[in-house]
Amino acid sequence: MHRLAKLDHRYVWHPFTQMRQWLQREPIVIVSGRGAVLRDVHGREYLDANSSIWTNLHGHRHPQIDAALRRQLRKIAHCSALGLANEPASLLAAELVRTAQNAFGPRASATAPALQPTLTKVFFSDDGSTALEVALKLAYEFARRTGRSRQPRFCSLQGAYHGDTVGAVSLGHISLFHRSYAGLCFRSDAVPAPYCYRCPHNRGQPQRSDARSWRRCRWECVDEIERAFDKQAKRGNPYAAFVFEPLIQGAAGMIAQPPGWLQRATEIARSHGALLIADEVLTGFGRCGSGGPLRSDPMEGLHSSRAATRSSSGLGRRRMPLFACGLAGVRPDFLCLAKGMTGGYLPMAATLTTQAVFDAFLGEYHEFKTFFHGHSYTANPLGAAAALASLKLLNQPAGRRARAALEAAMHQELQALWALEHVGDIRQVGLIAGIELVRDWRTRCAFDLAEAAGARVCEAMARRGVLTRPIGNVVVLMPPYCTTRPQLRRMVGALAEAIEEVLGHAVA
Ligand SMILES: *Cc1c(COP(=O)(O)O)cnc(C)c1O
Repeated sequence: MHRLAKLDHRYVWHPFTQMRQWLQREPIVIVSGRGAVLRDVHGREYLDANSSIWTNLHGHRHPQIDAALRRQLRKIAHCSALGLANEPASLLAAELVRTAQNAFGPRASATAPALQPTLTKVFFSDDGSTALEVALKLAYEFARRTGRSRQPRFCSLQGAYHGDTVGAVSLGHISLFHRSYAGLCFRSDAVPAPYCYRCPHNRGQPQRSDARSWRRCRWECVDEIERAFDKQAKRGNPYAAFVFEPLIQGAAGMIAQPPGWLQRATEIARSHGALLIADEVLTGFGRCGSGGPLRSDPMEGLHSSRAATRSSSGLGRRRMPLFACGLAGVRPDFLCLAKGMTGGYLPMAATLTTQAVFDAFLGEYHEFKTFFHGHSYTANPLGAAAALASLKLLNQPAGRRARAALEAAMHQELQALWALEHVGDIRQVGLIAGIELVRDWRTRCAFDLAEAAGARVCEAMARRGVLTRPIGNVVVLMPPYCTTRPQLRRMVGALAEAIEEVLGHAVA
């Protein structure tokens, strides 16, 4: 075993990892990377098919981000944001606000600002969990200070994952991760997420296409959200905020929302006066591409009552705003950003919010209305320099064209997987794809989680030089934006071969 692998085995405790199993074999030790390629200590090369756990946008060692970091290193690596401002963080905050305003477009009406908030303030932190923690604390205190609630309560989605700090865990609803810590957490309520493939209300029969395209329902999941908000209002304590991942829930298993769902769900929350907390830790910075390929709702018009009033506009636009909420035409009060923010270079996060929230924390020094929250590395200059360089790449027309091309290429390449009987659903939103493995696509019968079907398939992919991680029985493909067509073909090809090797050869 390589010297570095031995040191790892001896000293490192890995996240979300059963260490007994980890210690049974030599780990892959990465030493370098370029573009979509990672290289290990033995000189073996791999394709980074999950963008280094959903963080990397433009590929590894991108010359422009590398150069921005070197320039910043010649000035300063870190200084405190307590009592001091710094150059890249000031520039980045302005750029994030500008990018958000571009994504959400001008306010349609100046008369109802509460319904159409504008994000004007940026609170920096270090990762996705802390970005959510900040939004949570701000929304909590805002609800109390505005007299909306003395004990603010939050509503989030079933299967939600918002991070691993205790506040973020309290908003989450993945029992495997969160059950153990229930005693540490505050209570939040879960409403159904629109998981069309396994939805009890979907009367459609499985077909060889994304379950959202054969959805037959009357938005019963949305009715349940309405009932939950009504019930909480009747208790005299309407929800302070609705927390959601827009367009696709990542760690829940790449659960892609059918077009129109997000507008419906958020309109209900808004109509009850709840603030909207959008967790775009995964979906932000162009990950959702144009929102497609499923842009229009196949059910729209079939059940016209709601559909007529709440159309799924926005998804058809080809503007390609950098945030999922922008694609869906939803304007949140909090926009939580992390993972891809620095292009996958450094841990840095931001929580964008409105002037109204900011104002609730203004007062005389002795009133102590200050937001008492912050981290040692808040507004880190190196992270901000990387994020600025990444944003510049994202906003270039060439970058936009490349993302659109990769999104279309992914859609084409993924079609080949429908031939496999162990592929139940393929959910693609922009440059994110989740492939759900099942015993038999006709019955949707799931593999027992203990069988680790997803993990075994990913191991077989690694042997073929393609790295990604599963979520239970869902294999994730999330290539860096620089991925070439041949590299993409190798990723999907390795997945197809791995499924056949691990789960059997039968074809649909
Ligand atoms: C990864 C993730 C988080 C947590 O971010 P960390 O940087 O791992 O703390 C929160 N929300 C979503 C949607 C995520 O995908």
